[in-house]
Amino acid sequence: MTDPFFFPVSGFDLPRYAGIPTFMRLPHVGLDDPRIRQVRVGLIGLPWDGGTTNRPGPRHGPRQLRDASTMMRAENGATGVRPFEAMACADLGDVPPNPADLMDTMARVTAFYARVVAAGITPVTAGGDHLCSLPILRALAAGGPLGMVHFDSHTDLFHSYFGGTLYTHGTPFRRAVEEGLLDPVRVVQIGIRGTTYDREDRDFARAAGIRVIPIEEFHARGLDDVMAEAREIAGTGATYLSYDIDFVDPAYAPGTGTPEVGGPTSWQALEVVRALDGLNLVGCDLVEVSPPFDPSGGTAFLGASILFEMLCVLARRPAAGRPPAPHGPAQGAAI
Ligand code: MN
Ligand code: MN
Repeated sequence: MTDPFFFPVSGFDLPRYAGIPTFMRLPHVGLDDPRIRQVRVGLIGLPWDGGTTNRPGPRHGPRQLRDASTMMRAENGATGVRPFEAMACADLGDVPPNPADLMDTMARVTAFYARVVAAGITPVTAGGDHLCSLPILRALAAGGPLGMVHFDSHTDLFHSYFGGTLYTHGTPFRRAVEEGLLDPVRVVQIGIRGTTYDREDRDFARAAGIRVIPIEEFHARGLDDVMAEAREIAGTGATYLSYDIDFVDPAYAPGTGTPEVGGPTSWQALEVVRALDGLNLVGCDLVEVSPPFDPSGGTAFLGASILFEMLCVLARRPAAGRPPAPHGPAQGAAI
């Protein structure tokens, strides 16, 4: 049983609208805190949107997601999982970005996550825009390329923007493949849709062996069939989960920079995460929640609910509750 120090503050003890809003009402345990050695899963804020090319705002995501996440209770009503009892979780705080320097921020992010990986902690990140995933992957894939399940309206596989700019939220996974952080044949992208400039991203995917499942196919085949294929593609190796909130239809998640209509419902948004049960997940992120475009707070609430589902899937990994042992990145040995 997990040390009760790592249990979230219950709504029976303190109303959910009261207190300092950490992720899921968990204790805040910084990387220099001795308690960090007990942590299995770390929720991390990455308040940075330096890669955004259109409507901005995800730098404000972590604070809003923390607030919304105080609504999450102990048990998953659909699956019965009680993640906080299965494994020690904590809010590791925010990665300190440099909002005026993109390359410096990416270096800071990679250095932060290298420490997280060295401590044997599985990171669950609240972004931030989708460029956040690249410096995270640089730390997580230090031991070898990862598979990836990627929910998004967009492939984020473009080569460059504005005549040669390589680092934007439309390019992270192109860079990740080029840098050998991802094994393309173990990557699946689900929900792709909307108007596009051209097919350059999908041509790259096809040439590299990345499986792109457009939303038309998702709706035609159905969630269960598509997710069975996704599990098969990711296989048994170390796998990253990257979730762009614009995967979800803007009727349910309007608070994001580049919404695309015709997407999944909020129920399907949770169900696709539940379908990842059994994968060897070494990290997860939820990106592109933009509070300035989310005046109702509903997008952040959905985002917090998706983060909770991620924790529930991580809690069902074999040996999820075992004390963390520092391990080589991406080996999955301590999973
Ligand atoms: Mn994206
Ligand atoms: Mn997107």
